[in-house]
Amino acid sequence: MVTHAFTNEKEEIAGLIVGEMTDDHIQIYTVIPLMRENQQSDRVEVSEEQLVEGMDKCDEISKKLNETIRIIGWYHSHPHITVFPSHIDLNTQRNFQSMDSNFFGLILSVFVEESDKKSQSIRFIAFRSSPKAEPQYPAVKIQPMTGPNVHRELFSVNSESWLAVSQCANKEILLSLKEKCSSSKDGLAKTWKFIQISENLDNPMILCAKYMSVGLNALRHRNST
Ligand SMILES: [Zn+2]
Repeated sequence: MVTHAFTNEKEEIAGLIVGEMTDDHIQIYTVIPLMRENQQSDRVEVSEEQLVEGMDKCDEISKKLNETIRIIGWYHSHPHITVFPSHIDLNTQRNFQSMDSNFFGLILSVFVEESDKKSQSIRFIAFRSSPKAEPQYPAVKIQPMTGPNVHRELFSVNSESWLAVSQCANKEILLSLKEKCSSSKDGLAKTWKFIQISENLDNPMILCAKYMSVGLNALRHRNST
């Protein structure tokens, strides 16, 4: 999620959060990064098609694991701006909550310079819309997953290679992606689209693996030249 947020400094990125929710805790297993569909850089939208696709993916995983895995929230980035939700964010969130009252939003504020001008901070906020004007900010405690029901191997996303993809966005190896996907702007989006058009994959795990291998190859190619 954090790495995804760092792949685009100019536009907001968004994705769906996959996991389990009980009365006292939320367990995030993985995320589904979404392609940008909105032309305006300062907003993101989650289309109905993207949501339905995400739900189908979760159904597949649930069947495999014999556990209920579903979309429990959404995330998006605020590059260069504060972490707090905009009016548009609160509206989007309200729509989600009308379908599932526990659904939550997560915002990552990235590329924000500290006052010393030498470092950057990353800020997170989890939020829900409330019927009153003020949004709610549920407390979030982040800790690593433990316990017998953890299926790391199914959900792991190699963030290092994601970074590699975005770092190599202008490098030779991604030029072919650029040609094929001229409408996409950043490395992540290009690669994602490339995978989608080159093979009709419907398994998110395979998609992730493919995606990572493109990133790794890009990294290897860069290191060998
Ligand atoms: Zn926002």
